[in-house]
Amino acid sequence: MGYKTEKSKTLFQKAQRCLVGGLSSSFHKAPWSDYPIYMEHGKGAKVYDVDGNSYIDFLNAFGPNILGYVHPDLTKAVEKQLQKGTLLAAPNEDLITLANKLVDIVPCADKVSAFMSSGSEANMHAIRVSRAYTGKRKIVKIEGCYHGSMDEEKVSCDAERIEALGERDNPNKIKHIKGQKDPDDMIIAMFNDLDNIEHIFKTHGDEIACMILEPIMANADPVYPKPGFLEGLRKLCDEYHVVLIFDEVITGFRVGLTGAQGYFGVTPDLATFGKAIGGGYPISCVVGKEEVVSAATVASGTFAANALCVAAALATIGVCEQPGFYENLERMSRKMTDGVENICKKYGIKVTTRAIGGMWTMVLGTDEELVDYRDHYAKADKALYTKLVQGCMERGIRLNPWRGRNYVCAQSTEEELDYTLAVMDELLGKFVSEK
Ligand code: PLP
Repeated sequence: MGYKTEKSKTLFQKAQRCLVGGLSSSFHKAPWSDYPIYMEHGKGAKVYDVDGNSYIDFLNAFGPNILGYVHPDLTKAVEKQLQKGTLLAAPNEDLITLANKLVDIVPCADKVSAFMSSGSEANMHAIRVSRAYTGKRKIVKIEGCYHGSMDEEKVSCDAERIEALGERDNPNKIKHIKGQKDPDDMIIAMFNDLDNIEHIFKTHGDEIACMILEPIMANADPVYPKPGFLEGLRKLCDEYHVVLIFDEVITGFRVGLTGAQGYFGVTPDLATFGKAIGGGYPISCVVGKEEVVSAATVASGTFAANALCVAAALATIGVCEQPGFYENLERMSRKMTDGVENICKKYGIKVTTRAIGGMWTMVLGTDEELVDYRDHYAKADKALYTKLVQGCMERGIRLNPWRGRNYVCAQSTEEELDYTLAVMDELLGKFVSEK
């Protein structure tokens, strides 16, 4: 029996009548496909589509589903809250419990500024707070980092070709959506390049409110901070009175309980959390050092701090806090990266991998770690990765089709990992022999 997706195709045709482009998110369709796969439900670490196919899911909804689908503790907490109402337009006691938890867990969190629904909103609010605190306007962001779909945050985070990026010391500000406003107040810097950032601070220091970055640039084919880079940034930000913001929307509650700031031992002034903190329910927040985070008043939002998502976050963190939780995730992540390394060695394919908490990353085509966003154009074999992801999909495995960043969840099983590695072995072997 071949892999069939006829029902998905038909549903996509039906969607053309009412949805622009037939989609609500461009990321719902794999880059090689003419239509998205319509999913019917998720259970454990798997998703099931409308044509009866199932997939071991390493995409993990781009990060939030750290507990997997329909986790009993999370489902129980959410069902309980459902019976009590979800949007009470008032704080409840759970909100204080949740904020206290973050203050106890996250190194930079003296206080929580506000709870919101998405990572985009949290970053927008963090930038505002930095402007209120410093009285300055400009923001420095790193080429390749993604901070959400707001005008300012969605700049220079994706480019088809390296030429579009411009000169390294005078990079283009690439806009991604038609109608996006000019990012006048933004300066683009290079990951892992303290000289570049120091030069920017020297030239514009009295105008710069904040430096925002993903401490692990997970949105580019993952780029990890070189030893000393985050520490150096911390020093530069102190020297030039620039607020250091870690966007932990991906790394928070994913790489470990204390996020990337705990993992690398560098404490930012502000940090934003989203995705995994809610275990699949939309909740985000800004936390930070008291004097910085208190500089602007609470952000407002109709759905902000709603009781359902607060209950979901409390339940999710409750599971994440259990002894051995991250050790188990990292063991499974390492099984995947060790397996990929062995397979690639067998077939003479260069690869770089990393396993960190529930995230495992692979860059095919190079055995050197990427240093910045520009690096992957020269080093990464995107075509081979895409071919692998496509082949896996047809064999019941959903990997991240966009980046070599994948996730395990609390309900991933040894059998699922073994099966995935066996399929990858077969596919990569086939690709190499066909060359
Ligand atoms: N920050 C990072 C690092 C992200 O990866 C994303 C989304 O992928 C965001 C912020 C935006 O979060 P959201 O999609 O919840 O608005």
